[in-house]
Amino acid sequence: WSSSDSVVSAGSAGGTPGRGGDPFRVVLLGGSDVGKTAFASIFAGAADSMDGEDCEVYGDEVCERTIEVDGEEATITLLDTWTTEDDGKCMAQDQCMQTGDAYLLLYSITDRASFLRASELRITLRCHRPARHTPIILVGNKCDLVRRREVSVSEGLACAAVFDCKFIETSAAMQHNVWEAFRGIVRQLRLRRDSKEA
Ligand code: GDP
Repeated sequence: WSSSDSVVSAGSAGGTPGRGGDPFRVVLLGGSDVGKTAFASIFAGAADSMDGEDCEVYGDEVCERTIEVDGEEATITLLDTWTTEDDGKCMAQDQCMQTGDAYLLLYSITDRASFLRASELRITLRCHRPARHTPIILVGNKCDLVRRREVSVSEGLACAAVFDCKFIETSAAMQHNVWEAFRGIVRQLRLRRDSKEA
């Protein structure tokens, strides 16, 4: 599976949320240097010359595109607006926590502090989004840096189990599993949407 066959078009039209209608709002969360910008670049197509034109960018930190997941199109608005600075940015952080339909919670497998930060963010997110069904995927990025690994796969899995969310290891540098993470979040959003519609 590659990014090129997943990407259909950019933009959105009217219709059912996430089906080319109201886009799913997916927020990138995580400490600094974990790879949020790298994720956003891949999503925007900057790291994929074939699809560089396909993303509608609404500012440096917001990008929208339609991808195909399991034969059905889904429009995602990706928000990379998280800031790790504490100086008066609380409002921005609160908004981040409130505006997403789903969250990719990133840490670096080479940085245990970022893993702990992800746990803190999960707890904060739970305060802002008490509903149990907000889709979240815990993402252990930089899995290409094998020798610098500080957080094991089993620790990531255990953390995800405690937090009742999915888990995936990725490498933005190698473009490994990044689109799989986006596909996973769309699948969870659809499950939630379908259970609401039922
Ligand atoms: P952010 O602060 O979370 O937005 O992190 P960035 O996306 O700016 O990444 C921080 C640094 O890590 C940059 O130098 C990236 O090139 C590098 N980086 C990001 N993802 C990966 C990855 O999967 N593997 C490796 N080896 N480096 C990565």
